[in-house]
Amino acid sequence: MLLPSLAYERPETVEEAVALLRATRNARVLAGGQTLLNALKLRIVHPDVLVDVSRIPSLREIAHEPDGALRIGAAVTYDELAASPLVRAAHPVTAAMGSRLVDRQVRARGTIGGNVCLADPTSNFPPLLVALGARLRVRGARGARETDADGFFLAPYMTALAPGELLDSVLLPALAADQRVGYETLQVGTDSWALARASALVRCNGTIREARVALGCGPVPVRQRAMERALVGRAPTAAAIAAAAALAGEGFDPPGDVHASAAYRTKMAIVMARRAVRAATEES
Ligand SMILES: Cc1cc2nc3c(=O)[nH]c(=O)nc-3n(C[C@H](O)[C@H](O)[C@H](O)COP(=O)(O)OP(=O)(O)OC[C@H]3O[C@@H](n4cnc5c(N)ncnc54)[C@H](O)[C@@H]3O)c2cc1C
Repeated sequence: MLLPSLAYERPETVEEAVALLRATRNARVLAGGQTLLNALKLRIVHPDVLVDVSRIPSLREIAHEPDGALRIGAAVTYDELAASPLVRAAHPVTAAMGSRLVDRQVRARGTIGGNVCLADPTSNFPPLLVALGARLRVRGARGARETDADGFFLAPYMTALAPGELLDSVLLPALAADQRVGYETLQVGTDSWALARASALVRCNGTIREARVALGCGPVPVRQRAMERALVGRAPTAAAIAAAAALAGEGFDPPGDVHASAAYRTKMAIVMARRAVRAATEES
């Protein structure tokens, strides 16, 4: 199917991009285009203008903030994430995700910002960012604001971005020496959509001091607070982690479809949560 006829703008700066979004009521940000171009061809979305942010230099940056957080520009591609020495050193699980995602074409063009703003329930990054306690820097006509990843995903394909706003960057808090990350996915075959995802950030020094666990593939990524509370103060044994995982599933409301029932997805998400915590507590 052919693309519809529409206007195309390629701003040089975030300020120009924000002005374009503000000036045109029915404008849409274009990043890697890996999802948006298909949605245009299928006539699922009908913007009048595409505002291509993929070549704005500041959105391509990866750098440390003064507080030690790693700032990843929204237009950084999966390949760039995977290759970045900064990401590999500070957040190896995030870098590894960039290197494993889908296929070569999507990794070359797809961006972390597009992944987050699409808010597809099956996407890789949302549960990871929620578990990491990432912050999202948003730019709009009123300037910049930051929001927690935890509150950013409102519903499938719906985020807390207001009309005219764009995602500027993703801020990953620095990991302490005793913090580790785990990430697990269940999918059927290597190329299919994920059925269940879970990510965990655990602080452990023989005893678990802090845990953040998020499930993915429900409508939005959800923290598992009962599981987190049950982990804290325990030694990271298989039995303790399994007992805590038995409390997981709260607020997780996946769909049932031809690929898997909702009950199966929930059961598997809990298994992924257990494995993610194990991965985050195993000695490397
Ligand atoms: C064959 C195939 C398989 C895939 N499999 C997976 C998978 O297994 N896991 C996974 O996570 N993803 C998968 N994807 C999705 C892929 O990762 C997309 O590229 C990604 O989700 C969207 O990123 P993009 O940069 O291409 O964004 P685009 O397609 O350009 O944009 C997507 C949406 O985000 C908005 N947007 C983009 N950037 C911004 C911004 N900075 N500010 C505000 N809004 C913005 C756009 O307006 C649009 O609504 C797959 C895609 C394909 C084609």
